[in-house]
Amino acid sequence: MMSGAQFEMCNVDSTRDDLIEFYFDSSIASGGYGWIFTKGNGVANVGLGITGSDKKSAYESLLHFVKNCPATQNAQAVELNIGGDPVGGLVERIYDDNLMLCGDAAGQVNPIEGGGIILGMMGGMAAGKTAACAIKEGNFSKKRLKQYEVDFNKSMWGVVPKLPAVRDFVLSLSDEDFAKIVNAFKDEDLVNMDVKGFIKVFVTKLPRLSFKVIKLFKMFLPSF
Ligand SMILES: Cc1cc2nc3c(=O)[nH]c(=O)nc-3n(C[C@H](O)[C@H](O)[C@H](O)COP(=O)(O)OP(=O)(O)OC[C@H]3O[C@@H](n4cnc5c(N)ncnc54)[C@H](O)[C@@H]3O)c2cc1C
Repeated sequence: MMSGAQFEMCNVDSTRDDLIEFYFDSSIASGGYGWIFTKGNGVANVGLGITGSDKKSAYESLLHFVKNCPATQNAQAVELNIGGDPVGGLVERIYDDNLMLCGDAAGQVNPIEGGGIILGMMGGMAAGKTAACAIKEGNFSKKRLKQYEVDFNKSMWGVVPKLPAVRDFVLSLSDEDFAKIVNAFKDEDLVNMDVKGFIKVFVTKLPRLSFKVIKLFKMFLPSF
């Protein structure tokens, strides 16, 4: 479970309105990351998610973040959102007799970055379609409702159950590893880079991490 805390703030002095900012630094967000999602006119969502064993709560970490972040020195919080974010992956079964689980309740959250809105909506859409058929047929058995899981997995190309492996890789990286990755890619032509080009950067500039990265790519692209 990730603990998340977010302020909506005004008078945020963000670098650019067309960019979102991520902060990968364990002194800001232990086992997670901080973010500034700009909304224009100095308004932004400023938040963080933590999974680490830090004694500070997510709220305390957020207060520390906004106190020290250059972009929020003159900003005022106008709204606060706090909550658990289930990043443990999909629950074992998302349907049963007379029951379908969607969204956070089903673990439909991207375990790498904690985003659950898109996956939750995809889940809701697939569940809605199965529910409509089940109502027409008057059949709410788990055998009938299994269609929901089949459709959800198909709509997400079957990648959701594989994402926790990427999360574990990301969590295994130190602050220094993150800095090295950013430095390795900062002068590369990312827009035109294909998978082979991506792997080449790891093999040539980050050999210690390349083995794990190749293993992950093989999991998602068996033909790789
Ligand atoms: C601080 C924070 C920031 C986040 N930022 C992002 C982000 O930027 N992008 C992203 O994709 N995801 C983000 N997430 C995750 C995302 O918010 C959730 O994954 C998503 O909202 C889950 O949707 P849901 O419908 O399953 O649950 P919820 O959005 O939690 O909706 C559940 C609803 O059920 C209601 N409810 C609860 N109990 C009952 C009851 N007994 N009877 C009736 N109603 C009840 C609740 O009031 C609530 O309205 C964030 C999470 C946190 C904590």
